[in-house]
Amino acid sequence: MSIFSDVPQAPPVAVFKLTADFREDSHPQKVNLGVGAYRTDDSQPWVLPVVKKVERLIVEDDSLNHEYLPILGLPEFRSASSKVALGDDSPAIKENRVGGVQALGGTGALRIGAEFLRRWYNGTNNTATPVYVSAPTWENHNAVFADAGFKDIRPYHYWDAAKRGLDLAGLLDDLEKAPEHSIFVLHACAHNPTGTDPTQEEWKKIAEIMKRRKLFVFFDSAYQGFASGSLEKDAWAIRFFVSEGFELFVAQSFSKNFGLYNERVGNLTVVAQDNENLTRILSQMEKIVRTTWSNPPSQGARIVSKTLNSDIIGNVKTMADRVLLMRDQLKSKLQALGTPGTWDHITQQIGMFSFTGLNPKQVEYMIKEKHVYLMASGRINMCGLTTKNIDYVAQSIHEAVTK
Ligand code: PMP
Repeated sequence: MSIFSDVPQAPPVAVFKLTADFREDSHPQKVNLGVGAYRTDDSQPWVLPVVKKVERLIVEDDSLNHEYLPILGLPEFRSASSKVALGDDSPAIKENRVGGVQALGGTGALRIGAEFLRRWYNGTNNTATPVYVSAPTWENHNAVFADAGFKDIRPYHYWDAAKRGLDLAGLLDDLEKAPEHSIFVLHACAHNPTGTDPTQEEWKKIAEIMKRRKLFVFFDSAYQGFASGSLEKDAWAIRFFVSEGFELFVAQSFSKNFGLYNERVGNLTVVAQDNENLTRILSQMEKIVRTTWSNPPSQGARIVSKTLNSDIIGNVKTMADRVLLMRDQLKSKLQALGTPGTWDHITQQIGMFSFTGLNPKQVEYMIKEKHVYLMASGRINMCGLTTKNIDYVAQSIHEAVTK
């Protein structure tokens, strides 16, 4: 009898299970629209040319070695990351009140930030502070905050299924009613899974209430560059909140915009009120990192810090443009097929994903009958579409909707 015989079997993580099912499927026309990773028009992963170039320089650089990095990470990576988020000439950076914690991907940045907030925000070890996540959201948000100890995780209104757009009234109402000091996880751009972001005017309304109601802003920025093809434009919301004087966190992921998924490269940018607060915050962050991964890996951080924004943006734009093309084509093909319903949301939504509006039964049909794999929520990864499979996918959606 094993001492572990009472360990229950945990269910698989939906998005990785979908990929495993896809791999096992031998159908020649199978398509994977599940996991959020970029694919070329030949359905292949893409190592960004600038990344490849910098990787070669790193291999050739004899001054580099494999010593431990500092606990908080590679200094030039941390400052480069904060500059990507806040802008090269951010006043907050000039005022020495911005710091970074290098983290294992965006997930690590969220987790370290959540752990810090539980320990030190709104009291000491206050697990009762409400944490609000959008409805729907990236499914890991709930679990990350729950595992960090938060006991009260709540959805805030975000998606209006009927109008296939932002439920601004519901969102603003939730902000008004949330207890003071509640934590709000906001998607900085390219909302996952809906592909729907507030406009600048809407962000201003959100910020006004959050400031007045003393709510904490925790940005999740996993797709900077993917929404518009511009790193600057996609950081607008973050920069606006900083300009409004918020103390806030930004969990940054470089998995998607640098195509560095398995290097686990992320950063928690901390915008504090002043340098003295920042110093104390970072001293506590060190303690958290020390018992979590002790110090982070170097390869991804070196790549990001050695790649100039001006170099990466061309590659990011290539990805963003291909997504835009696929959005246009999918919409026109569905319209040409006369598929019932409106499909304008496909081109109105931005970033990597589209929230198609397909219901679970239609999704099941897509997977079982058509071998087109997508999340049960109806979310599709637009990068999984190519000029070669888009007719088949459009036809499959048409059948799923009309059968
Ligand atoms: N936040 C959101 C909204 C995401 O979609 C993802 C990745 N799917 C992450 C965070 C985590 O990114 P990473 O892979 O860098 O941990």
